[in-house]
Amino acid sequence: MKKIHKSGVLKKIAIIVVCAISIALIISGSVMLSNHTNEVLQRAKTQSTNQSLVALTKVEDKVAEYTNYAASTAGSLQEKNLIDAKTQLGNLRDNGKLGLKAARYMKNDQLFCDKSWVDIKDGDLAINYVKSVEKANQKPCFLGTNADKMPEYEEGKVFPVDLYEFYAPIDGNLNFDGIAFYFDTKIFEIFIGDSFRNADSLMSTLIKDNGSILTGGDALPKSTAVEMLNEYGVFDTTIINQVKRDIAERKSDTVLCKIKGLNHVISIQFNNEISKDLGIFEVYECSKLAKETNDLINAIIAIIVVFIVIIVCTVLFLTVSHFRMQRKINNAEKHDLKLDCLNRFGFEKEADEILHREAGSYYAVIVLELRHFKFLVENFGETEVNSLLKYIKLTLTKTCRIEEIYGHMDNGQFLLLLHSTSRADLIDRLKIHSFLASQYKGSHKFDVAIKYGIYEYTEGEQTSVNKMIDYALEANNTVTKATVENVDMQFNFYDDELRKIRLINDDMELRQDSALRDGEFQVFYQAKYNLRTHKQDGAEALVRWYDKKTGEYNKPALFMPLFESNGFIEKLDKYVYTKVCEYISYSLHEGRNVFPVSVNVSRITATQPDFVDYYTRIKKKYGISNGALTIEFTESFAYENYDVLKTIVDRLHKAGFKTSIDDFGCGYSSYRILKELPMDEIKLDKFFIDYSENPERINSIFESVIALAKKLDMKVTQEGVERPEDVELLKKLGCDVIQGYIYSHPLSLTDYLHFVENTKDHNL
Ligand code: C2E
Ligand code: CA
Ligand code: CA
Repeated sequence: MKKIHKSGVLKKIAIIVVCAISIALIISGSVMLSNHTNEVLQRAKTQSTNQSLVALTKVEDKVAEYTNYAASTAGSLQEKNLIDAKTQLGNLRDNGKLGLKAARYMKNDQLFCDKSWVDIKDGDLAINYVKSVEKANQKPCFLGTNADKMPEYEEGKVFPVDLYEFYAPIDGNLNFDGIAFYFDTKIFEIFIGDSFRNADSLMSTLIKDNGSILTGGDALPKSTAVEMLNEYGVFDTTIINQVKRDIAERKSDTVLCKIKGLNHVISIQFNNEISKDLGIFEVYECSKLAKETNDLINAIIAIIVVFIVIIVCTVLFLTVSHFRMQRKINNAEKHDLKLDCLNRFGFEKEADEILHREAGSYYAVIVLELRHFKFLVENFGETEVNSLLKYIKLTLTKTCRIEEIYGHMDNGQFLLLLHSTSRADLIDRLKIHSFLASQYKGSHKFDVAIKYGIYEYTEGEQTSVNKMIDYALEANNTVTKATVENVDMQFNFYDDELRKIRLINDDMELRQDSALRDGEFQVFYQAKYNLRTHKQDGAEALVRWYDKKTGEYNKPALFMPLFESNGFIEKLDKYVYTKVCEYISYSLHEGRNVFPVSVNVSRITATQPDFVDYYTRIKKKYGISNGALTIEFTESFAYENYDVLKTIVDRLHKAGFKTSIDDFGCGYSSYRILKELPMDEIKLDKFFIDYSENPERINSIFESVIALAKKLDMKVTQEGVERPEDVELLKKLGCDVIQGYIYSHPLSLTDYLHFVENTKDHNL
C-alpha cells in the first residue's frame, strides 16, 4: 500500500517536472521565435535591397553603354554637314543595330525627326524636350522612357512599346546642338524571361515610375506592378498604397506582405540620377532570403511542436487515467465482486434509468431471497452456498429480458427488475425462475426455497428504487402476508394491506411512549403444565397493548415487528420484566401461591450493554429469589449471536436466573446451540406438533431433540399444545412441560391470580 502510494507520488512529481520543463521551453522557444522572425524580416529587407541593387546596376551598366554609344556618335558628327549627318544617322537607324528605332537632331530649341529628314518642329513637345535636355546638363545622358513624346514614326503606326531615349550634345557645329537616340526593349533584354530573375525571387522586373511593367515576358502576365501583386493575392490597401506611392515618387523601399500566408518582401529600387524613371520591382519570399535564420526558426518550431505534443500527451494521459480511475471507482461502487454483477447501489442506478425510459410498462422490483440462508451456510459451508448463488445468478441471466436487470445483495438476496403484462404473468415468469433454481445440483442434498418480495411500480410514481427495494424487503419480511405457493416458492406482494400496515405502524410509533406511560401495555400470563408432576409448572409473561377505543387487547404480532425495528422494544421488555417482578414480589407479600415466570427478551434488549446489570438490579430490588425468573431468548438470536449470548447466559446464571431457548425448531435447528449453550430449558416451536405433512420424519427429529435435551439435562417444553392426542404423544416422547390453550390461554393478571388459586382443580 505504502509502496503504491510512493510510486504514485513519484509519478506525479515526474509529470509535473516534464510539464514544467516543456512549458519553460515552449515559452523561451516562443520568445526566440518572435525575435528570429523579426530578424528574418529585417534580413529579408536588406537582402532584397541588395539583390535589387544588383539588378539596378545592370540597368545602369546598360544605360552607360548606350550613353557612350550616343556620345561617340555625337563626336563623329561634330565635323559633319547636315546632309552627311542626316545620312549617317539614317544609316544607323536603318541598320537597326542595338535596337535603335529612331534618331533625331536638335537645333535652336527645335527637334527634327529623321523620317525622310523633313524637318519637323514639334511645338510644345520640342520645347519640353529641350528643357529636359537642359536639365541633363548638356552631357551625354539617359533621358528615361519615352512613348508619349514620340511622333508617329511610320504613317498609321504607333510605337507599341516605350522607347528608351538617350541624348548627346554636339559642340561647335552650326547645324546641330545635339542628337537623341530612341532604343527599343532590346537594350534591356536581360530583364526578359527568367534569365534575369534571381532564383530566389518570386518576380523581378523593370518598371516605370507610373507602375507599368516594361519587361516581363510570359512570367508576368499583368501590365502593372500592382496588378501583379493582386495576382499574388495581395490586396491590403496599406501595402498597395505604399507601393504605389514609392513607385510614383521613385523611392527605393522594401514593403512586407503575406502571400499564401508566408512572409514576403516587395523590393523597389530607383536611381533617379542614372536610370531616371526606370526602377526595379521585385518580390521575395523572406524565408528564402534569410535561409539560415529561417532554418533556425524551423528548428525552434519543431522543438516547440515536440514539447507541445509532450504536454498534450501528458494532459491526455492524465485525463484518460483520471477517467479510467473514475470508471473503476464507479464500477466498484456499483459492482458485486463476488458474483460479478450489479450490487444494490448499481441496481438502483440502472433500474432508475430503465424506469425513466420505460415509464409506461408494468414493472416490478423484486427481492429474491433464498430461505434459510444462514442455515445453508452453517450446514453446507461457504463453497457450496457460493456455487448455489452463482447458479441462481445464472438462472437470472436466463430469466432477464431486454430492459430488465438483476443484482445481488448480501445474505442470499438478489434484486430483480422485471416487466410484464400483468401480475399473473409476472407470477408465471417467477414460477419458471423458481423451477430453474430448484434444479440446482450441489454436493449436498437440499431443497432450494425462495421467497419473492414484490413491489409493483405504478406508472408515473415518484418512489425511488431504493424505497421500492425496502418495500419489497418488507413484503418478504411480513410473513403473514405471504401468498404461499408451496414451501419452496412464496410471492409476497407489497400491496394495499402492507401500505395500511405501514400507516398503522406510523400511528403506533407516534403513540408508543404515551401508551407506556399510561399503562396501556399490560402483562398477560400463560400457565404451563408439567406432564410428570401433573401440576402447574410456571407461566410465561406475554405483553398486550390495550386499545382504549375498542376495549381490545392487541397481540404482539401487531406491534412487535415495529418495536424491534425502531428499538422501542428495549423499553417495553424492561417494563414487562419490572411488572413481572412487581407481581411476584406482591404475591409473595400477600402470601399467595407463586410459580416461576418466564419473560421474553428480544435480541435488541439482550445486546444492550447494561442488560444483565439492569435485570439483576431489578431482581434484587424486588427481592426475587433465584430460580423464580427465566429469561427466554429466541433460537434465531442464539444462532446469530452465539458468542454474545453465551457470555450473557453465563452472567445470568451467576445472577440466579434460568435461561430458555424459545421457538426451537422453527428456523435453524442448530444442534450446536443445544450442545454448547448451557440453557436450562428448550421450548419447542408449535411447528413440531403441526406435523401434518410428514409425521414420521418430524417425529424422529422430535425424538432425537428431546433425547439430546435430556442428555444435556434441559427441561423440554412444548408450546402451542391444543389437542389431547398431542399431550399423549408428548408424554410418550419424554416431553416435560406443555404450554397451550389446552391448559390455559394467556390471562390478564387478575384472571391469572384466580387461575393460580384454583390450580389444584386443573386436570388435563
Ligand atoms: P412466544 O414467546 O412463542 O409466545 C407464545 C405465543 O404462542 C404467544 O403468542 C401465545 O399467546 C401463543 N400461544 C400459546 N398457546 C397457544 C396455543 O395453544 N395455540 C396457539 N396457536 N398459540 C398459542 P403471543 O402472546 O401473541 O406472543 C407472540 C410472541 O410475541 C411471543 O411468542 C414472543 O415471541 C413475543 N412476545 C410476547 N411478549 C413479549 C415481551 O414482553 N417481550 C418480547 N420481547 N417478546 C414478547
Ligand atoms: Ca416465549
Ligand atoms: Ca415460542
